[in-house]
Amino acid sequence: MGIAKVTLPIPGPKSQALIDRRAKAVAPGVSLIHPLFVESAKNATVTDVDGNVFLDFAGGIGCLNVGHARSEVAIATARQAARLTHACFQVTGYEEYVAVCEALCRLAPGAGEKRALLVSTGAEAVENAVKLARKHTGRQAVLCFEHAFHGRTLLGMTLTGKAAPYKVGGPFAPEVYRLPFPYPYRDTSIVGRLEQALMPQVRPSDLAAVILEPVLGEGGFVVPPPAFAAELNAFCQKHGIVLIADEVQTGMGRTGAMFASERVGLQPDLVTCAKSIAGGLPLAGVVGNAKVMNSTPVGGVGGTFAGNPVACAAAIETIAVLEKEIASGRPNALGEKVHAFLKSIDSPLIGEVRGLGPMQAMELVKDKSTKEPAEAETKAILTAAREKGLLLLSAGTYGNVIRLLFPLTIEDAALDEGLAILAAAVKAVR
Ligand code: PMP
Repeated sequence: MGIAKVTLPIPGPKSQALIDRRAKAVAPGVSLIHPLFVESAKNATVTDVDGNVFLDFAGGIGCLNVGHARSEVAIATARQAARLTHACFQVTGYEEYVAVCEALCRLAPGAGEKRALLVSTGAEAVENAVKLARKHTGRQAVLCFEHAFHGRTLLGMTLTGKAAPYKVGGPFAPEVYRLPFPYPYRDTSIVGRLEQALMPQVRPSDLAAVILEPVLGEGGFVVPPPAFAAELNAFCQKHGIVLIADEVQTGMGRTGAMFASERVGLQPDLVTCAKSIAGGLPLAGVVGNAKVMNSTPVGGVGGTFAGNPVACAAAIETIAVLEKEIASGRPNALGEKVHAFLKSIDSPLIGEVRGLGPMQAMELVKDKSTKEPAEAETKAILTAAREKGLLLLSAGTYGNVIRLLFPLTIEDAALDEGLAILAAAVKAVR
């Protein structure tokens, strides 16, 4: 007997009733990828309001590296909520905030003195990292990359390198410049000629920051070649530019290391983190070089809910679980197993299987020689998988990548069953 149990049609009657209510109350710009409402969830399974049980390889878009309702996290969250729910760290202190910053300073890449600050969302972390870089350098310009995702705020969407749907309507924040991101499956022409490619756009000496995801998240789990990280490290050092690694999706163990920068050889001055940092509670942070972190005036960074004590209590337990998992080597073993499994699926649709550690994906194409993106087929696979009890997410600028964001704590049986459903869905579509 499998773990997933689904009665068609999806949505079932209870989810459908909630979808109808949603349509009359919720702004339609908030998307709903899977037409179902959740009743409860545990580790890698989700139960909807109609009693269907799904395997969850979406993880609320990568926020559940320790799984749903991890017991240590749930207990710490409940205890903290009963003891102190909010204080605002700028008004009165509480230990949990300091403890999370201590952990981030200890775990972030780089050996020098570090400081951290906490906020609530990934976009806010990006905004603050850029603000700090600008204050530190006294410069304004920021370099970002195609296929990037950095959030939905004014600066976040400006930095994001995918037009629809994220940037539709604009307008955009000033002083943002963009280059291609090396995409080994499609184009790596930027590697080795970054400085030259920048010449028509901006002087390096005017750049406050370079921001990139060490492995593209929303952009389709693209892993840049090692030479690119080395080039960026040298470029930023030479010109006094703050190198920001946006690890909102790649961080907190997703690539088998606490931060992906370590794995791709990137030496960031600042790292942003969010998503999986607090076991599903809203928390985000910026951590890095103390000189950069110390550059804003008192009151220049922060926020009313920034570093909420309940989210911090959850983060302390989440980080402890992640450290144990990473030390055990299991996340990387899962990554190898998943990579080999995806490669073994015999389908004309699979153009490339790629990823780093357990952050694995496959890019689907209509034709392996033209590499024409198979967007409709990708959607069809998501639907076919859901109907067999597996929740997946797509990614990629062309909407043709299936990315896997299962918990790093997933049980072997759940992983095997989910992969089998995925393979069957790929074959059912073509
Ligand atoms: N940066 C990256 C790399 C992300 O993947 C995301 C979210 N997908 C963000 C920033 C924005 O995070 P949030 O949605 O929490 O604002």
